[in-house]
Amino acid sequence: MDFSQLLAERTETIMAHWVEAVRRDRQIESDDNLSYTAVQDHLPQVLAAMVTVLSRLQESNVQAVVQASLEHGVIRSEQGFEPTEIAREYRLLRQVLFSNLEADLVQETPAEAIRILQLVNDVVDEAIAQCFKSYMEIRLQELKQVQGQLMLTNQQSNRLVQSSQENFSQLAHELKTPLTSIIGYSDLFLRQQQSSTTQNAVSSLEHIDRVLRNGRQLLRLVNDALELSRYDAGKVKLRLMLIDVPRVLKQAVEVMEPMAHAKALQVLVTSDRAPAQVLTDPLRLQQIITNLVSNAIRYTKTGSIWLECQELKDNQWAIAVTDTGIGIDPKDQARVFEPYFRVDTSGQSSLSSSTGLGLTIVARLVKLLQGKIELTSHLGEGSTFTITMPVKVDVNKVNAEEVTVLEEASPDYPQALK
Ligand code: ADP
Repeated sequence: MDFSQLLAERTETIMAHWVEAVRRDRQIESDDNLSYTAVQDHLPQVLAAMVTVLSRLQESNVQAVVQASLEHGVIRSEQGFEPTEIAREYRLLRQVLFSNLEADLVQETPAEAIRILQLVNDVVDEAIAQCFKSYMEIRLQELKQVQGQLMLTNQQSNRLVQSSQENFSQLAHELKTPLTSIIGYSDLFLRQQQSSTTQNAVSSLEHIDRVLRNGRQLLRLVNDALELSRYDAGKVKLRLMLIDVPRVLKQAVEVMEPMAHAKALQVLVTSDRAPAQVLTDPLRLQQIITNLVSNAIRYTKTGSIWLECQELKDNQWAIAVTDTGIGIDPKDQARVFEPYFRVDTSGQSSLSSSTGLGLTIVARLVKLLQGKIELTSHLGEGSTFTITMPVKVDVNKVNAEEVTVLEEASPDYPQALK
């Protein structure tokens, strides 16, 4: 009797019985939502390959089974089958095969029946082995991919932790200097008050003055660091409104005028080429301008500060803040936007109000308003900080919960600028 012929004729029945057995089996769950075709996927080919092997009656010629089972393994891994489920479905296949051939086998001589049973068993074993091989290969590839992604994520988070650790230790270092000074001078002051009868009132006042100065510096540092961390955490809400640019510039400059007058510096504003109206956050814009103008005043001994505003093409506009100050060395120009970076001013008068965070905050604000900041500077001649921004901040590029758009005539408008 040609068993391969029998198998070929009964393929459909065997498949139907097998799919039914797989569906009934509660230990195989991955097939629950699969169609009939998806469940039997590639098993008919495995069966057809078995027919070929059996027809040649050669145990060694299993290449067709190998190929079909490899493909079955790929399909099962894509369908999300567990290895135990695959082992189970091949066990069911063996059962279905034997129950379908049983009646015919008993008619054979025992030796022939055993030979055929052995052959079918070998072929099914080979099919399982090959199916597992390709299944494992796919899983291994997925694992490698996940591992690659995890390694990348790990590198990124390490970088993040490292940079926040660096920033934190830098902040701690910055806080230490004024704190040591405050504690030292307060201590001295107290001891002078308690013990000395011939205490020098003037030196006591000086000590108090130093405590105050360092206290203010501490406050500035803490406030700036907190503000920066709010930007970095993305917790800053934009309040957009249509603004009259010359008016905002004028108001920002007015705030800085006493500081400029104290150093006999002139602050000039040119805004006749400014856009008529701009949709932006006036408070953030004012913060950017005051920061840049304050730096310009602090780092300029004589001359003037010039603010120039103009509309550009492609719905952009720009504000340039130019000073005739000390200028910035080309090697430091990119670094001035880094947190806590200060140009080494040794040899020049020390600036106690410096935190090294001003330009970092400005850069964050400019980015928030969808713009960019550029610096051109020449040592000893002066610097120009230019910010370029869209005439209308694109609301679609901001998270909905991070933006409020107010009407031009909103009563909040003058309020927001105070
Ligand atoms: P701060 O001024 O508080 O130190 P900033 O972040 O605003 O911090 O500036 C960083 C550094 O860049 C300053 O310490 C200063 O050396 C340099 N800098 C900033 N603005 C100017 C300017 N207009 N002219 C010259 N140097 C400047």
